[in-house]
Amino acid sequence: VSRRGLVITVAVALAGGGVGWLLGQQFGRPPQPQKVQAEVTNRLDGLLNAGFTEWLRKHDPELISSIKSSSLFAYAVSGLTLIDLPKGVRYARGDVLVSEDELAAAIIATQFRRKSGEERPTLDWDRQPTPDLANLLVSWNKHLRAVGNVVLWDVRARLKYVVATSSFPSTTKAAAVKAAIETAAAAWYDASGVRWDCATDLESRVGAGWAVDPLFVDVEFVVRYVEQAPGLRGEYAFAFFPASLRSEHEILITPAFFLQTDYTPHGLLTHELGHVMGFVDERGRSSGGLTPVDPQSVMFLPTDPSIPRPINLRFDRLDETTIGAIYPK
Ligand SMILES: [Zn+2]
Repeated sequence: VSRRGLVITVAVALAGGGVGWLLGQQFGRPPQPQKVQAEVTNRLDGLLNAGFTEWLRKHDPELISSIKSSSLFAYAVSGLTLIDLPKGVRYARGDVLVSEDELAAAIIATQFRRKSGEERPTLDWDRQPTPDLANLLVSWNKHLRAVGNVVLWDVRARLKYVVATSSFPSTTKAAAVKAAIETAAAAWYDASGVRWDCATDLESRVGAGWAVDPLFVDVEFVVRYVEQAPGLRGEYAFAFFPASLRSEHEILITPAFFLQTDYTPHGLLTHELGHVMGFVDERGRSSGGLTPVDPQSVMFLPTDPSIPRPINLRFDRLDETTIGAIYPK
């Protein structure tokens, strides 16, 4: 999240039919009105990564290496912000971080197209990998489900998370973040029925290391403080998508989070939890010719200086409609 807006966000729209079909199939409901389907389709992250990344790491690690050293990769990352974190280099798609392996896998899984008259090929983010890949991931985590090409949490998921208190510069700051995320989680619970569980008893076991400890198989994500690092340009926080690699399941809080006065802390974290639930940034999403961007959405970060600060990000009616369609209570 940055004051400058999210111009580098690579938003991904889904192929139209999948979600509509699955909404009908999965929930046994009459088809949603066309508009709701389009809205749902447009708002989700369809860039499938983790299952395919893990599969490639196991079966064809050389392909990942060769892609990472290719000019194609260099071209694909040229529009993204590189952040040099202690856990390694990450690329920022807006306020969602992607690892190099995930990006390489996305390049392999998606396809390139060369538009007429263009010198270089364009990564076709809208052309999605097959649903088989979604199932590959879902088989790894019992709390996930595949909806077409999109990976989402189960509608009855209980998302256990740990705030890494020892990573914060003070217990006061850790407590402030914990209180804000609990308010944000309560808002998501009200809208979706997905439960959140702040596991305070596990805090002492989450140390300075970066990866989620594999012992905590039922911990879905960790909330950490990250010091100023090369590439960080005043972003307030970073999140992940359900399809992100498990080792990337972290919400990172930056020093700027505590200095900013643009957003209420719980509003900002309601936005970050939106990414955790699978939603893309409204501002940057590709329209896909489906629905217009919703500037009142919790997933839209206003940059208009005339709006009084702090802005309290919250769900609008379209948010509630789409959340209810994807995560029915
Ligand atoms: Zn965002």
